[in-house]
Formats: sequence, C-alpha cells, structure tokens
Amino acid sequence: MLLTAPWVLPVSSPPLPLGAVLLEGERIIAVGPERQFQDYRGARVSLTDQILLPGLVNAHAHLEFPKREGLPRNSFTQWVKALMGCEPSQPAIFQENIRQLLLGGTTTLANHMGIGAQHPPETDQPPAEAAPLHLTPLRTVFFLEVLGSAEDRARASLVAAHEMQRTLQDAGIAAWITPHSLYAVHPNILEKLIPVSTHFLESLEEEQWWRAGTGPLAEYVRERDGVGAYGNTPLPTNIIVHGNYLNPAEMDLLRKQNVSVIHCPGSHRFFGHRPFPLQELTKRGINVALGTDSLASNDEISMLRELALARITWPDLAAQDLVTMATQNGAKALRMETEIGSLSPGKKADLIAVPCDASVTDPYEMVLRAKQVSWMMINGKICILHCVIL
Ligand SMILES: [Zn+2]
Repeated sequence: MLLTAPWVLPVSSPPLPLGAVLLEGERIIAVGPERQFQDYRGARVSLTDQILLPGLVNAHAHLEFPKREGLPRNSFTQWVKALMGCEPSQPAIFQENIRQLLLGGTTTLANHMGIGAQHPPETDQPPAEAAPLHLTPLRTVFFLEVLGSAEDRARASLVAAHEMQRTLQDAGIAAWITPHSLYAVHPNILEKLIPVSTHFLESLEEEQWWRAGTGPLAEYVRERDGVGAYGNTPLPTNIIVHGNYLNPAEMDLLRKQNVSVIHCPGSHRFFGHRPFPLQELTKRGINVALGTDSLASNDEISMLRELALARITWPDLAAQDLVTMATQNGAKALRMETEIGSLSPGKKADLIAVPCDASVTDPYEMVLRAKQVSWMMINGKICILHCVIL
C-alpha cells in the first residue's frame, strides 16, 4: 500500500513535501518523494490536505482512572488521599479513555496500573482487572505498579502483580513489574524490585520526603505504617516519570545511567509544579519524552493536547523538537526505537495524519495546532476512529 500526503514528516529525516510511504503488511518498506513511486500500481491512500507522521507514543498514562471532579490540586498529599478514597473505576471507563487516546494521536501506550491500590489483595474485594487493551488497536506496554507503604501490603501487591503479569503475557501483551514510586513501597519490598518506570520527584511534598523525610507526604507514609526509603535508595533505572524536582547531581546521575524522563504537561499544570527542567535535562543529553498521565490529574488524555501545552510552555523551542519528544523519544524511553517512533524502512506501520493548516509554513508547527487526528494506522491496519468497539 502507498500512502501519499502533501507533507510527510518522517521525524528521523527532513520533512518531505508531496511525500509518500510504501508499506508491506505491518511494516514500512520505503519513504520518499511521491514521484519516486510513480511506477507503483498497488493500493493507494491519498491523504489530501493532511500531514502524515509517526503515531504518537504516550509514554505514561493510567487508563484505570476516570475524570474525578473536585480532587484537591494545591497539596499533592491531599490529592493522593482523595484519590485513594474514590470508588473503584467502572470497566466502561477504559472504552472512553481509549477513544480519547486514539483521537489524540496515541498509537503506542505505556499504561501504568496500580496493583492493590483500590482492591488491596488482603481484603475480600475482587482483584483488579487489566484493561481489555488486547481488544483495541493500541500498541501497549503495561507497567504493573507495586504499592504498599506497609510491608505486608507491598508483599501482597507484588504477588498480585506477578499473577497479572502472567495473565497479560499469556495474552501476548508486554508487562513489567515496577514500584509505583519510592515513597509508596516498603523498603524491604522495594529492594526486590527493578524500578523500570517509576514516579519520582513529582511534587514539592515528595521532594521534602526524599531529601529529609519530612512534610505532609512523609507524615502520610508513616500514617500508613510505612517508613519510606527516602534519600538512600538508588534512583529509578530506566524511566523516571515527572522528575519535576530533580537537582543537578541527580540529573548527572540519570545521564550516566541512561535514564529517560517522562514529562506530562497537562498533569504538571494541574498541580502548578515548579517549571519542568527541560533545558537542564536536554543539555545533558537526557532523553525526555511525553505522556498524558491520567484523568485524575489532567483534563484530557490527548497527546496532541500535551504537545499544544508544551508549545505554550516553550514558545521558542523548535516545533520539530517537541514532535520528536512525542514520537522518537517516547520509543527510545520504552526501548522500542527499532520498531516505532519514526517513518523509516523496517519500522512498524504506525502512522497518524492531522489537517494541514495553510496559514502555517512549518509542517511541524501544524502538528502542534491539531486538535484531533484525521486518520490513523496501527500495525498496518487503518483505524476507524469514531467507532472503537471493545
Ligand atoms: Zn502517573
């Protein structure tokens, strides 16, 4: 199949006016100017008035959360407490969240799922169920979060996470077990885990806990029979989610350990954190990618909206750099850079199209102005966006 568009943005190479992408099954086999393919006689999709680019990689989300009105924003600890007190989510929420993700351009999703947060395994409530993501077109990686400030709760969460991991892997879905954060897992269980994708230094209150074991979050951890492993624990190893309050020494260490940082612009605004240290991270060569986080701390879960918010925060940054964060950098963070994240031969055919805005000359800037995708393909299959059936 040949896809053509007035603009093709491979991301890994310069924009192509009147470009084309040649596919075979689920893979891209060639990318170039449309004239290069004039002898091609197979199926063709002409995306007139649209820009074609790689599908967006949402490197951090929690599909289990619906929109919760009235959650406190001025204290992270109060927000956590209020969220823990909410009723368990209804399964229908997954369908709506997935619809929003797809319309907002996500083709690959890193979905975090708290194990034992709302359904502690030691109670007689039903165990948490994984979102039925294997029934959707999304390319998905699960991070199963171990939770429990008290040792027995954390141990039960770890047992349940292993069970969930087996279920997901049997369904062909990648699933990693990781601590939710360093403050939410008892140190004796934390030391058994590899923190592959972990919330870290998201809030000022977490920073107080991490640096001195004081403040409202530290008190909350103690209330829940925890001690917390502040200050003296190795930093997360692969992905740090948020990292809003990282200090220069920690950033230097992240660079040495090749750790990626996931920034969630909507969630960052929700809490009004101090400015995200994008320049400090990127000047060190640290990979920064983007995520939506969840509707518990964001008004929408659309990667296109996250890009638009990032543009407001960094008006002087090249539009291409922002789009790269939402594509190639996300793929790199998830260690999927050989499969997705750019349009190049051999990669999976995950592509989106957004409308061309004739008033803008930079095609990357047009992507930042798009509200929804106009067309989408995942793994070589065109997605019918307004009729997502689970
Ligand atoms: Zn999160």
